[in-house]
Amino acid sequence: MNCIRSKPEEALEITREIHSRSRRSFDLPEAPPRAAQGLPCGQCANNCCILEGCKGYCGLVENCQGRLLRHGGTPDKGVLEWYYDPLPTNCVSWWSCPGCTGVGYPEYTDSAGPEVGYRNLAVFYGSCSTDCLFCQNWHHRRMAKDTAASVSAGELATKATSETSCICFFGGDPSTQMPHALVTSETILKGRPKKRNFRICWETNGRMNPGYLEQAAGLSLRSGGNIKFDLKTWSPHLHEVLCGTPNRITLDNFQTTVTKYYAQRPKVPLVTASTLLVPGYVDVTEIREISRFIAELNPSIPYTLLAFYPTYILNDIPATPKKQAEECYRTAKKTLKNVRIGNINLLR
Ligand code: SF4
Ligand code: SF4
Repeated sequence: MNCIRSKPEEALEITREIHSRSRRSFDLPEAPPRAAQGLPCGQCANNCCILEGCKGYCGLVENCQGRLLRHGGTPDKGVLEWYYDPLPTNCVSWWSCPGCTGVGYPEYTDSAGPEVGYRNLAVFYGSCSTDCLFCQNWHHRRMAKDTAASVSAGELATKATSETSCICFFGGDPSTQMPHALVTSETILKGRPKKRNFRICWETNGRMNPGYLEQAAGLSLRSGGNIKFDLKTWSPHLHEVLCGTPNRITLDNFQTTVTKYYAQRPKVPLVTASTLLVPGYVDVTEIREISRFIAELNPSIPYTLLAFYPTYILNDIPATPKKQAEECYRTAKKTLKNVRIGNINLLR
């Protein structure tokens, strides 16, 4: 990490090539296209401008003879996998969730404790707006190529059966397929009996188009759900090194959502945050700055520090040491009230 801090340009030169090589192997653009003559997509914060015959960064959008063709992310086509997850779940935000703890009963859960016997509809989108070298779900990169098996929002909404009490959009990242996720959510809530709780949740890198994020926040706020932002780094250089994209929009989106909505439902936190403790990269300095940023907005926001395990490109560094996790925890606790270490089984 010290090398990246002291020689950011050199580090970026090396890692840009690593990102490019890995993305080429999945037939994905090496960077978000910015051609002045291209067609603007606008579906996520990458704001790709795509030349004729080329694709957007996520691989789902193509300029075909001067028209944008969307192979996913529209209400009739979601490129995704879905499954049921029994409650209480292992969602990162489980410890502040009505369905897993009973907090917010009876407004946001039908149970005073964990909703045992019910399940979450987990929606894994097969596309992403960034490119983490430590991607724990890297196989989503294959899904953008195989869009034939897409699922419409209407069809996905039928999977929210009477035993299902929440939906969580993750991936990949929902930011590249927001119109699909929003219509799915609205369809489910509309078809639900008034007295039956159903929560809408998101786990995201925060690179959403701000207009879509606002709609997502509105749905989660009224349903008792939450938006978990992955604040991967504080340093902009480190973010670009590890994830291939800048982190400004994520921090801005986080700040806007907290400022506008958090105080409206403090007992059941609408916004939560997490950071993956990548050994040698995401260190105590990063955690200190992220924690201060969150605390300045509201020190009660739940913050989860997640243990890393070797995978994808960063498959040659070890899992997070217990010592690092404990130091980061103590550092975050200096400014934040609600901090937790997740995935403790992975610590070494
Ligand atoms: S959804 Fe985002 S990443 Fe995909 S083409 Fe549009 S702007 Fe680019
Ligand atoms: S999806 Fe939301 S409501 Fe459901 S278990 Fe996860 S955090 Fe709780």
